[in-house]
Amino acid sequence: MDIGGGEKFDVIVVGAGNAATCAALSARESGARVLMVEVAPEDARGGNSCFTGGAFRVVYHGSADLARLIPDMNETELRDVDFGTYTEEEYFDDMGRLTQYRCDPDLTEILIRRSFETALWMRENGVRFQLGLGRQAFRVDGKFKFWGGLACHIWGGGKELMKALHARAAKDGIRVLYETPAIGLLQGDSGVEGVRVRYQGHICDLRAKAVILACGGFEANAEMRARYLGPNWDLAKVRGSRFNTGQGLKMALDLGAAVAGHWSGAHAVAWDLNAPPFGDLDVGDRFQKHNYPFGIVVNARGERFLDEGLDFHSYTYAKYGGEILNQPGMFAWQIFDQKVVHLLREEYRIPRITKEKAESFEALAARLEGVDACRFLETVRVFNAAPRPDVPFNPNIRDGLATSGLAIDKTNWAQRLDAPPYEAYAVTTGITFTFGGLKITNDAQVEDTTGHPIAGIYAAGEIIGGLYYHNYASGTGLMAGAVFGRIAGRNAAAFATGP
Ligand SMILES: Cc1cc2nc3c(=O)[nH]c(=O)nc-3n(C[C@H](O)[C@H](O)[C@H](O)COP(=O)(O)OP(=O)(O)OC[C@H]3O[C@@H](n4cnc5c(N)ncnc54)[C@H](O)[C@@H]3O)c2cc1C
Repeated sequence: MDIGGGEKFDVIVVGAGNAATCAALSARESGARVLMVEVAPEDARGGNSCFTGGAFRVVYHGSADLARLIPDMNETELRDVDFGTYTEEEYFDDMGRLTQYRCDPDLTEILIRRSFETALWMRENGVRFQLGLGRQAFRVDGKFKFWGGLACHIWGGGKELMKALHARAAKDGIRVLYETPAIGLLQGDSGVEGVRVRYQGHICDLRAKAVILACGGFEANAEMRARYLGPNWDLAKVRGSRFNTGQGLKMALDLGAAVAGHWSGAHAVAWDLNAPPFGDLDVGDRFQKHNYPFGIVVNARGERFLDEGLDFHSYTYAKYGGEILNQPGMFAWQIFDQKVVHLLREEYRIPRITKEKAESFEALAARLEGVDACRFLETVRVFNAAPRPDVPFNPNIRDGLATSGLAIDKTNWAQRLDAPPYEAYAVTTGITFTFGGLKITNDAQVEDTTGHPIAGIYAAGEIIGGLYYHNYASGTGLMAGAVFGRIAGRNAAAFATGP
């Protein structure tokens, strides 16, 4: 069956999310004829990328750099915002510290050093950026101040990102076959020579000189989650696409590809207890509940089980989600008082939310389903009674307002909970993506288990391993997908169209 309309393609890209479209655009720009194959129907295209809020971790040296990415910044923004900087050194520090210094040094360097130029390239390709004011900066003494290295966001989040990149791909004549899962790689004497797909009930072989795998991790595959991440991970909710089932990884492993990264690790966050099993594009990322640093979190025993104020949420949220899985019943409640409610992000005000509110802790305790009420009241009493230094609460810095003497102290933002009514939000583990992936060279070419690159096959996005271990710095997923997608596209095109 001819499904390419008789056309010949140099490069086939598997997937149609951020990494895939960046790869396709880059290959096209380098002169290759490109086809994309995507398992999802067109209205669900864009994978996890479509679900994102658009946090984008890019190196910048102050407002001038940001103005190159966001030329439409207005006067008020320029006047009222302390942009700070996010230098290469800070980026390296964050990636090293969060991954316990396991992240691949070469890939990390490429990610960081190419972040700004890649963001500019995305802009040239129609992606718009905005300041992350509501999410990554609070107004203190009349000025917003950015923290966590995330001044830059994609305008309109993942939906607009995917709209922009696909509009550009269509303009560049890149064809996408939807509802066309890749199910295998075609291998010949010279390496990978195409992809086997399922198309309208038929198995078809699509030939091309190079293939780019950008089809996500195995987060939406409960069986693989249990196998690689461990007990109970099969029960986690999936924050995004139902289509990232690890098929691309399996195809590459069957071919002898080498693995890299943390195969028993994953990015997972606090996610509404009653969210659906997979992401809902109408809600996007707003089932997440990221403001726990301003309150306390208790489990079914009514006990705190983590240091809510260890760091800005951008540096703890991706590992704390997995901690909920280890609690009895796999749920937790985040508790806040009125002093901080104005700081809670928009995601705490959506209609589909599991929330309780009460004038006293006694009344609240009775409403926290599944929680030992007596122990909860004792936890609040002990937390409030713990000594802390006389320093002002400041959400824009690690303020050092820490408890002391508790079994688990709260390191920052540890105000007493004493301003009713009190609010509580029920959360469970929502998995975002898996950390284990394929080993690639600095040219984004997939390596085999003997340490040699496999001819004709490249990879980018969640499917690559080596950048994340144990934890994750928010906003690097989209950035890494774009950086390595662009590299993969360029190199696949050169290989496919070269002599
Ligand atoms: C709710 C949520 C919020 C997030 N927020 C942010 C954020 O603000 N900033 C950030 O940087 N990151 C964020 N992330 C992480 C980010 O989404 C990912 O790191 C990134 O989008 C991965 O891009 P990708 O192109 O590798 O994968 P995806 O965008 O998931 O694309 C993979 C594509 O491959 C397709 N596919 C899978 N298998 C096959 C197959 N066999 N054949 C054909 N096609 C296939 C899928 O349908 C999908 O379209 C968030 C993720 C979620 C779920």
